[in-house]
Amino acid sequence: MKLNFAKKLAIAIAIIYAPIQTMAWGTNGHRISGQIAEDHLTMKARMAIRAILGNESIAMASNWADYIKSDPAYNYLYNWHFVDFERPMSQPEMTEFLEHDNSVNAYTKLKFLIDELKKPATSKENKLLYLRMLIHITEDIHQPMHTAHASDKGGNDFKVNWFNKPTNLHSIWDTELINFQELSYTEYAAAIDHPTATQIKGWQTAPLSKWIFESSTLAEQFYTEIKPGDTLNYKYNFTHLDILNQQLLKGGVRLAGLLNQIFG
Ligand SMILES: [Zn+2]
Repeated sequence: MKLNFAKKLAIAIAIIYAPIQTMAWGTNGHRISGQIAEDHLTMKARMAIRAILGNESIAMASNWADYIKSDPAYNYLYNWHFVDFERPMSQPEMTEFLEHDNSVNAYTKLKFLIDELKKPATSKENKLLYLRMLIHITEDIHQPMHTAHASDKGGNDFKVNWFNKPTNLHSIWDTELINFQELSYTEYAAAIDHPTATQIKGWQTAPLSKWIFESSTLAEQFYTEIKPGDTLNYKYNFTHLDILNQQLLKGGVRLAGLLNQIFG
């Protein structure tokens, strides 16, 4: 009887705390891009960011927006992490759609955050909140499944196996592929942070809508390559590692570009 109650309680707790949607790039994915961003800042931007974050590095500030999901006071920030689409779109279509979209999503909120952080009148408290969110969301939109289909919650309902473990397409890209590399975030950043000057310029100057378009194009590719119930393992890692590393790198380089533009 006692055990039974304990069991029931455990199940109830598991249900209550089950996340609605799994987190963005896992903790390390965010930190990898954050660390890369740190390495591409101008001195002026570095000083301005330090005045806001104090001793918190960009890498460590990157996860705050996911950690606060446990506090209902921050529920209003939930939709800021992604921008999902009802159907695949061409680049002009997507640009048009995003520019006229008034809903709360990663695109509209990133634009809001950039504007607010540029204003000298923004309070110190809000600057901290906005900077942490800007860091996180810029990284998130480079995780292709954060710019994916609304119908399956960005691949959260697209069930697959990673080796023997039941998971979903969203989590494969958030965490499984990154964890499979078995690198710390600093080791990972050091291994992939080798963009050419041409790449840096091209990535940073492309408009925000293009960042999202690139990411969602990758998501469309991922959807067509596999079907629900498939088991992904060594081969998937081998054929997708370059894309993963490129998105982590682009996210970091573009975040630095945004921060240099805001604080430089
Ligand atoms: Zn997120």
